[in-house]
Amino acid sequence: MHRRNFLKTSLATAALATSGLELFANTFRPELAGDYQLIRGNVGYYTNRGGTIGLYLPGGQPEGGVVVDTQFPDQATALLETLREQGRLTQFSLLANTHHHGDHTGGNGVIAPLATQYVAHERAKQNLIENLAKKDEKAELPLPKTTFGESWSTNLPDGKETVSLRHFGAAHTGGDAVVHFENANVAHLGDLLFNRRFPYIDPGAGGDILNWPVVMKKIRTHYDRNTIYIFGHAADGYPVFGTASDIKAFENYLKKLRNYVRKEIKKGTSLEDLKAKTETIPGAREWKFGERLRGVNLEVTYGALMAEKS
Ligand SMILES: [Zn+2]
Repeated sequence: MHRRNFLKTSLATAALATSGLELFANTFRPELAGDYQLIRGNVGYYTNRGGTIGLYLPGGQPEGGVVVDTQFPDQATALLETLREQGRLTQFSLLANTHHHGDHTGGNGVIAPLATQYVAHERAKQNLIENLAKKDEKAELPLPKTTFGESWSTNLPDGKETVSLRHFGAAHTGGDAVVHFENANVAHLGDLLFNRRFPYIDPGAGGDILNWPVVMKKIRTHYDRNTIYIFGHAADGYPVFGTASDIKAFENYLKKLRNYVRKEIKKGTSLEDLKAKTETIPGAREWKFGERLRGVNLEVTYGALMAEKS
């Protein structure tokens, strides 16, 4: 079998195998397999399986690019294969992770050895270490060489782009970073935004469902009205990039979720009954996809509000 077809076939097989670990992984989209899309300037994204990968591909150069998140090993390998076929990149200036989750960092072992710098938030590194410690077999995943607390930035060697990472507080996890390509004005939000699908939330890794809308507001006021945002995940049929209006919509979902659960707690509704009767959140009914995570959203919010009360 031709190598390329083999890659596509093994990718499809891997994507079809369901794993309880990747509840929030994007649905496999064959039309995007092994392909990437440019958004603005040299910045684009790659979707296959797992969290959206952000890319900076300097024109006509074999090196000096940036990869933001890495999906899983097969997908990271397929991405490299695609770039090499097109004579694009073989070496990168920077690998950045938006946070530690496996569907965003699983391919780090493929990309990190090709990158001069590898950076993530300090809590994301801690979360990666804790996750590795939990695993039975010793997976050899590289750890970030550089970490930051509030912000970090670097100028790329082509002299045309500056990449800035910024942490806005606990939300999806305790170590979320927004990766901003300043010149192109494109910002990768990682899993800070699930476009029209129920988000995953990880309180065990420092995530904070009640602070999440506060973080979203900080983000849309920090960047400007022309900023294009890349999202970690989107419901089928919805794009993995958008504008501040999508941030507002997601912020609204998180607020409506909190208000709804608070009201139900006041009424004396049990968590079990709440989960059984809820299909969508009043005032945010566009969020109806990825139902497997709806219960997690209700449960984490319920727990956080009860803890706040006591
Ligand atoms: Zn995540």
